Order: sequence, then C-alpha cells, then structure tokens
Amino acid sequence: MKILNNILLTLPITAVSALFLLHGQPLAARAGFISLIVFLYINFLFFMMLHTGKTWKYRALLFIPAALLFPIEFIYTNILERGSMLVSLSTIYECKVPFCHLVLPSLIIPVVMIKEIPFPGSMSEGHASIAEMLVLIFCAVLVVGRGWCAWGCFYGGWDEAFSLIRKKASFTFTHKLWRYLPWAVLISSSLIASCTLTPIYCQWLCPFKPVTEFKMVSTTIDIIAAVVFFSMFLIFIIILPLLSKKRAQCSFFCPLGPTLIALTNRVNLFTVSIDKDKCIQCKKCIKTCPLNAIDEESLAAGRVRTECAKCGKCLDNCPKQAISYAVRMTEGCANAGFSRLLYLYASYILMSAVLGGILAKSLQVIAKLVLG
Ligand code: SF4
Ligand code: SF4
Repeated sequence: MKILNNILLTLPITAVSALFLLHGQPLAARAGFISLIVFLYINFLFFMMLHTGKTWKYRALLFIPAALLFPIEFIYTNILERGSMLVSLSTIYECKVPFCHLVLPSLIIPVVMIKEIPFPGSMSEGHASIAEMLVLIFCAVLVVGRGWCAWGCFYGGWDEAFSLIRKKASFTFTHKLWRYLPWAVLISSSLIASCTLTPIYCQWLCPFKPVTEFKMVSTTIDIIAAVVFFSMFLIFIIILPLLSKKRAQCSFFCPLGPTLIALTNRVNLFTVSIDKDKCIQCKKCIKTCPLNAIDEESLAAGRVRTECAKCGKCLDNCPKQAISYAVRMTEGCANAGFSRLLYLYASYILMSAVLGGILAKSLQVIAKLVLG
C-alpha cells in the first residue's frame, strides 16, 4: 500500500521529467535510450525519497553526477560551435561565450548606473543566454530560495563531491570572518566590473574555469590568470572541501549563492525549522550541514541561518527528527509530511528540469565520444 501510494505521489515528477527530457521532439535512437535511462533514474530517486523519508542522499545522487559530467558536454558543445573550448578575444567580441549565473551580480551596478552589460556572454546555441539565465535564476529563487544551490546549480556538485571523500574533517570554518568573504567577493567584483566594464570575476577569479573554459594562454597576463584559476580550483573546490567536509566554494567564495540568493530565503515560501522541544542539543546538525547554515546561535534560537540551501542533510541526520521542511508562517502547525512533499515537488521539478537535462546531454556526448 505504501509503495503504491509513493508511486502515485511520484507521478507529477514522471510527467514533468518526461516533458523536460523529451523537449517535445522525437529523439534519435541512442539519445532516446539515454534520455529514457535518465528519466527512469530521476523518477527512481524521487520515489526513494518518498519511500525512505531520506532526502539528501537521493538528491546528491543526481546533483553530483550532473555537475561532474556537465563540463564534458559544455566543452564538447563549445568546440562544435566555435572550434575551441578556449575563449579568444574574437570569441568574446562575437558574443560566443555562454552566460553563467555566477557573474549575474556583477551586472547589476553597471546596468543600473551606466546601462552597460560588462559580461561578454550572450547567445550560444547550446547554452544559456543572459535572458535565459536571468529567467531561470529568477524563477528558481522565487520558488525555492537558496534551494537553487542544492537542487539546481550545475556547479555545486563539484565541491560537494570532494567534501564527501574523507570520513572526518580536519579543518573547521569557525571564524566569523569567513561569512563576510562572499560579500567581499560580490562587492569588490561588482565595483571593479562597473569601473572597468569587464567581467572581473569571470576573467580572474572563477574556480570553475579549469573545467569549463579559459582564455587562450599567450601572454604573461594570461599565464598569471591561468595560475589564479587553477589555484582557486585547487583551494575552493578540492583542498578546503576535502579538509573541512564542507562546500567551501558554495559557502565562502560564490558571489551569488551565499549572498543575494541567500537573502531570498527570508521571504521564500519554504523554510527549514528546528523544533526546540525535540532537540537534545547533540549538535550533529552543525557538524553535518555542508553549507555552515547552522551554528550554536541559530540552533539555540531554533532556526537555520539564511544561508540554508534546504539540502535535507541535517533533517536526515537528526537523531530526534527535530528538523523539518516547513511552509513559512505555518511552522509548528502544518503537517510536516505535507510541507516536505510540497517542497520536494518544487525543488525536484527544478532539479529534473536543469540537472536531468544536463545529465542526459552529457551522457549522450560521452556515448558519442566512446562509441562514435
Ligand atoms: S541534530 Fe537534531 S537533536 Fe541534534 S542538535 Fe541538531 S536539531 Fe538538535
Ligand atoms: S541547514 Fe540543513 S537543509 Fe540547510 S543547508 Fe544545512 S544541512 Fe542543508
């Protein structure tokens, strides 16, 4: 009976994932087969979330592979469209650089003040334009707030993957200054972008450049930029997540997620609430939260911090089931199971639309490269 119930509750995801994966067009045999496998996988994971009551593990099983495989599809499409993964000046001037949400904040001041867009990215057939990315991020944060960073972002699975490798953390981000770092990155990159009309975060700081694209290395400045990119990748994507078991890039260096998107959590419909009466102060949630969104202060107040990405890890690990998804303003009185179901629908539709499509496309590229 429980199985049948959960199959029925999975049906909305079945309908939506079929729509997103098939794009309303007939697919070639191999592409259709891969899309079918991804479609079944997506639905299986959602069913397991309902059946086991566990959220984080089944979310991670889609979130992480999609992020790790995304660069394969991204680089392949860039090579097809412009002949190289590398960004040359002419590629920039011809607007053949796909747009990325991490530089969205750098656009705000220049667009408002001087009506100029300092990011060269525009249209690319295979990837998002500025308009598409704006609409996607706007809709995503409207529905799930910072849930974007655990259910939609196609980069987030990288530092999450490395944060899971070691059993024990040997480093903690206890100093409060760490919380100011993403704001410092946001403000400084926005101001410099406004003054120079260049996408400074993209040109100099992005830790994901080594696995997506970077400028042709032909001058001393390019060599310095390449060294910076690889250092950022090593520090924020590999070393800090390995040592701390936290998503270091997503917590402390991304100029969008822990800053502007986190602020939307204050008004978002969905939240994560802690029942102080059930809590035994074991602090397991503080230890397990990958985004440092619970600390002693917030736990004592019975809430998570605004940086919460609603990933579900603290819910799954709390020995007293004191933590739950809640619909804002109904905490404590709404049925926790129903609130969770509503949240899972919202976040999982986002995940199957963005990451399901990426996973299917990446697997198709891999199949093409391997099988010809
Ligand atoms: S894991 Fe649960 S019981 Fe332990 S401190 Fe956190 S909320 Fe309280
Ligand atoms: S507080 Fe809980 S749900 Fe929020 S990011 Fe941390 S582990 Fe995930």
